[in-house]
Amino acid sequence: MAIRVAINGYGTIGKRVANAIAAQDDMTVAGVTKTGPSFGCELAVRRGFPLYCTSDEPGHITAFSAGGYDCAGGLSDLLGAADVVVDCSPGKMGGENLARYHAAGLKAIFQGGEPHSLTGLSYSSSANHEANLGADATRVVSCNTTGLSRTLVPLYDHCGSLKVECTLVRRAADPGDSRKGPINAIKPVLKVPSHHGPDLMTVKPEIEINSLAVAVPTTIMHVHSIIADLPKGHGLTTESVIEMWKETPRVIVMHGGDSRLTTTAEVMEMARDIGRKWGDLHEIFVWEDGAKLVGDRLYYFQAIHQESDVVPENVDAIRALMGTEPDWRASVARTDAAITACYGTG
Ligand code: NAD
Repeated sequence: MAIRVAINGYGTIGKRVANAIAAQDDMTVAGVTKTGPSFGCELAVRRGFPLYCTSDEPGHITAFSAGGYDCAGGLSDLLGAADVVVDCSPGKMGGENLARYHAAGLKAIFQGGEPHSLTGLSYSSSANHEANLGADATRVVSCNTTGLSRTLVPLYDHCGSLKVECTLVRRAADPGDSRKGPINAIKPVLKVPSHHGPDLMTVKPEIEINSLAVAVPTTIMHVHSIIADLPKGHGLTTESVIEMWKETPRVIVMHGGDSRLTTTAEVMEMARDIGRKWGDLHEIFVWEDGAKLVGDRLYYFQAIHQESDVVPENVDAIRALMGTEPDWRASVARTDAAITACYGTG
């Protein structure tokens, strides 16, 4: 029987995760929540997802019908109709929500805006799928941590040790987020090291990593500038590292100069050109001509589409928690094939 998945919070991440789940043949969307009537409700109705209210308050639930939407009930009703919940609420709401999921007897998956301490367990498919098998609750790491995991874990798996310094050039806000800045400034994150690099150690503690971050006035991608020190005797060359990433799921390696994809804007245009829903890019984009191994030190740049790289990870995390697929590569292949079959790649 298909796994019934509740999506609590149908915003930037929630609407994407719901679509990705709907594409799979082993799971189904039990329903999605909104705080009140809004265009997001329209989107859920068009997709045929049952609509619920984030609150159980009768007044909040009836507000939906006043806005022209059928609301099937409050969060408790949705939890009663599901096997697992994916929490896509704005960050830092997890504590309260986790208690409700526990009370309903549901397994739960949180997002990167919540601290690792909420669940004591985090998730990234290539790093620690096995450690999540059968767990009650986990946290899919943030878009940045997911990006670091995609390219660094295969390197670590080859080398057996890895020391990494990384500077993250962060998008200021998501495209729909008109309230946030900076608009005409570059804003260093004045917490050193930033949390991003060390967050990777919640899923792959063996990788020694630190990071700095700056926020810049763009809305479409993050760029990571990474320096990785490989151990003596690693046996790699620039070319073999590139080949390794080309074989890695959810990593795209392209020559920026030859393909004329030298900026994040062009990479995002490519995602639109190949017909990705919302112009998303689930893969991490690595510039082949921006990668170089000098002695034992590897330099490279990668770009992260912040709104979408974590989306297929949520699907794999569901299979891990439900214990239905122990092999991360098999889950990733299944997730991605279903998404491609449903939404195409152009
Ligand atoms: P968002 O603001 O776009 O969406 C959040 C949704 O939750 C909204 O629809 C909001 O109405 C709803 N909501 C409000 N109160 C709620 C409540 N009490 N219970 C349930 N839902 C409620 O936020 P987002 O960008 O989708 O972020 C969701 C989570 O994903 C956060 O933890 C965030 O850090 C993480 N994340 C975001 C991105 C990104 O680039 N946007 C990337 C990776 C991870």
